[in-house]
Amino acid sequence: MTDTHVDVLLIGGGVAAASAAAELRRRGFDGSMALATRELDPPYHRPPITKQLLGPDAEAYDLAVHPADWWADNDVRLHTRSAVLSLDTAAHTATLANGTVLRYGRALLATGAMVRRLPAGSLSGGIHYLRVPANAHKLRAEAKDADRAVLVGGSFLATEVAASLAALGTRVTMVMPERAPLAEAFGAGVGDHLAGLLAARDVELLCGEQVAGFTGNGRVDGVGLVSGRRLPADLVVVGIGAVPDTKLAAKAGLRIGPTGGIACDETLRTSEPDVFAAGDVCEYHSVVHGRRLRVEHEHHAAAQGATAARGLLGDPTPHREIPYFWTDLADWARLEYVGPAVDWDAERVTGSLAAGRFTVWYLRQGRLVAALTSGRPSDLATARDLIASRRTDLDAALATT
Ligand SMILES: Cc1cc2nc3c(=O)[nH]c(=O)nc-3n(C[C@H](O)[C@H](O)[C@H](O)COP(=O)(O)OP(=O)(O)OC[C@H]3O[C@@H](n4cnc5c(N)ncnc54)[C@H](O)[C@@H]3O)c2cc1C
Repeated sequence: MTDTHVDVLLIGGGVAAASAAAELRRRGFDGSMALATRELDPPYHRPPITKQLLGPDAEAYDLAVHPADWWADNDVRLHTRSAVLSLDTAAHTATLANGTVLRYGRALLATGAMVRRLPAGSLSGGIHYLRVPANAHKLRAEAKDADRAVLVGGSFLATEVAASLAALGTRVTMVMPERAPLAEAFGAGVGDHLAGLLAARDVELLCGEQVAGFTGNGRVDGVGLVSGRRLPADLVVVGIGAVPDTKLAAKAGLRIGPTGGIACDETLRTSEPDVFAAGDVCEYHSVVHGRRLRVEHEHHAAAQGATAARGLLGDPTPHREIPYFWTDLADWARLEYVGPAVDWDAERVTGSLAAGRFTVWYLRQGRLVAALTSGRPSDLATARDLIASRRTDLDAALATT
């Protein structure tokens, strides 16, 4: 079909691609640019899907990353409902689902992640996964008539949805293999704190339990557990993580890294010199952490989009941003953290977990690798400095917090 040339092609419709587009124009890039996404809408923010979109003002909430006219004003050609089916890195072409072939000078792969699913047999109704706004609208509509909801998983997403549904008045049970929500990622102290918050709002927690399968006739009516127990359910929400969407990259022959993301160097360049990657799909060598990382947080995806944009323009500066994440549990609690809290071997707590104002500092071999805080946001700046400086005299540094 049509054979159009663009200097830069952005593939994917999330914050990473949107941020790259903005950074390119901000830096004065005046070449041609197109963004191709398989979504119905231009890039939007996903975090409200588990929060505001399940709340009372859901319909009025605006998720767009850029205002509607930003794209035309900045001369970025938008191809919505246009999955890129294949990428030929030798010919520098991308083929869209409608058959359009785009020739590109350089490309960014920002294809994000896909939800991890559980087998549901022939059941077609009542089992929810949250990735796009329509998923939240459907869940909210069903929650109005639901008496009991079962949340599968002890992830951020499951915990946020449990809080949001409980705030809507639904009876919620969470099922997870961990001893408490997020205990595996952030330790028993944080896990027990969150369990306490949820229990105080009448969320039932079944920890150390796993789902064996679902029951129902067409629509789910219960959840069977490995322990033999059966939980009645009017609806189920599964929040057991996401996997990087590397289908297009793998088909194009790009190298995939050990974390399952597209393998990139420290500037976010892939194994193909004219193709960069950013966001949830990108595994990169972090010069700050001295190892390979893949992170699934919105702020990080936006920051990587900006780094990749600079790379597309030939700037070889490495990506140095320390990953940042926040989570809101209805309006009861806000947790923020910096650094990926993986591979830590010791933790320290300042403040009081019981009072809900605390910071947990995660250490590996005497160095700070991450920190999670509730109610002490100024500790985040300290944590960023300590992670970046790789200091080992943490006793002195933490004594002043
Ligand atoms: C429900 C939910 C709640 C979240 N809450 C938080 C939170 O509170 N805080 C936080 O920091 N992070 C949160 N996250 C994570 C955050 O949203 C992601 O880290 C962020 O969206 C990643 O952006 P991205 O641009 O890399 O990918 P995505 O947002 O996944 O966007 C990728 C896009 O690429 C498109 N695409 C994929 N393949 C193709 C193709 N072949 N052709 C064309 N288009 C393609 C996809 O359809 C999608 O639009 C949440 C995520 C979800 C799902």
